[in-house]
Amino acid sequence: MSFNKLNLHDSLLDRITALGYSTPTAIQEQAIPVAMEGKDLLGIAKTGSGKTASFVLPIIHRLLADKPVQKSRQPKVLVLVPTRELAMQVNEVFRQFSETLSSSLKSMAVFGGVSINPQMKAMYGVDILIATPGRLLDLQRSNAIGLSKVQILVLDEADKMLNLGFEKEMEEIIKLLPTQRQSMLFSATLSDRLSGIRKVLLSDPVVIEIENKEEDVTQINLSGYFVGDDRKGPLLRYLIREKNIKQVLVFTSSRQKADKVASKLSKNGIEALSIHGKKSQSERVTALEKFKTGNLQALVATDLISRGIDIDQLPYVVNYELPRSPKDFVHRVGRTGRAEHSGLAITFVTKEETHHFKVILKKMKRYIDMIDSQTLEF
Ligand code: ADP
Ligand code: MG
Repeated sequence: MSFNKLNLHDSLLDRITALGYSTPTAIQEQAIPVAMEGKDLLGIAKTGSGKTASFVLPIIHRLLADKPVQKSRQPKVLVLVPTRELAMQVNEVFRQFSETLSSSLKSMAVFGGVSINPQMKAMYGVDILIATPGRLLDLQRSNAIGLSKVQILVLDEADKMLNLGFEKEMEEIIKLLPTQRQSMLFSATLSDRLSGIRKVLLSDPVVIEIENKEEDVTQINLSGYFVGDDRKGPLLRYLIREKNIKQVLVFTSSRQKADKVASKLSKNGIEALSIHGKKSQSERVTALEKFKTGNLQALVATDLISRGIDIDQLPYVVNYELPRSPKDFVHRVGRTGRAEHSGLAITFVTKEETHHFKVILKKMKRYIDMIDSQTLEF
């Protein structure tokens, strides 16, 4: 099917063509018409399947139909995301689709870690606000924005937004929103049974779940190595050299470990930086930007980067340490194998973690032939 069939505003179709999208992905094809009608929706589709445009396109379409209103500090659309990096990325997608439209729509991303004053000033006239919860509440409390005119609420990475870490902030935000609104939730790992959904959705949502087809499973190839903690560093360097890896995203479970792994790689001539919650905002921006543009061989990250971040044709992900939750595993490996490209996710497993890794694979309905690193010469 083509985008033309979706009845989107003509100027949006021009942008879609200009950005090189030829056909809508499955989630886009099904979610866009529902979203355009203003219905509440849960959109569940695998990582890298184009969920962002499934809400960005219908939102812009609907705003284009609105009569112009007096500029204010009352955004019409609120998109909540878990991290600063994702806020910037989603804002960029809004910008790409709206920048050359005749009617000017203003979108903006707000998040912590940078000073609040410029954000307060820039809030005037914003139609579409993309925010992390903490900074959004700070802006609201200082009267820089009002949330009573929000017509459309989106939770991207919705299961993360509704989990314990954000519970209090989310409750506070929901109370500030009008009860008459459209709410849309998107994630690769969302279940319509998730408790907490009822707090956000007021009416029965349309549930759109795109089942993985047999043939797409191979887009993210998985491999695993049994390796002791003390041999993980040498194994990582061996694999980078052996497979001639030019770009790899390495996940660790702690900030300290991310720093250690990155510095060890650098010492061994593999250019690497770490990214995690203890880094300054400018360090976070620089590291991710360098990595996204292909100017950094290895980025070592905590789960901060595991959700939603889109790195064009990233070929390799390495789980240096196993995540506790199978969901985190799904999101980490989902940084590769996006938008019809394929990728390889390599996981390091200690003997003690064998059972846990089996549980993760079973949840993903995947199987791996493990390689024992002791059989390799490095
Ligand atoms: P998700 O949120 O489902 O993980 P994204 O929305 O981040 O996925 O999209 C993944 C990548 O696919 C992005 O680089 C995006 O530009 C690209 N993409 C999205 N929709 C299409 C499409 N219809 N045709 C081609 N590429 C697309
Ligand atoms: Mg996404």
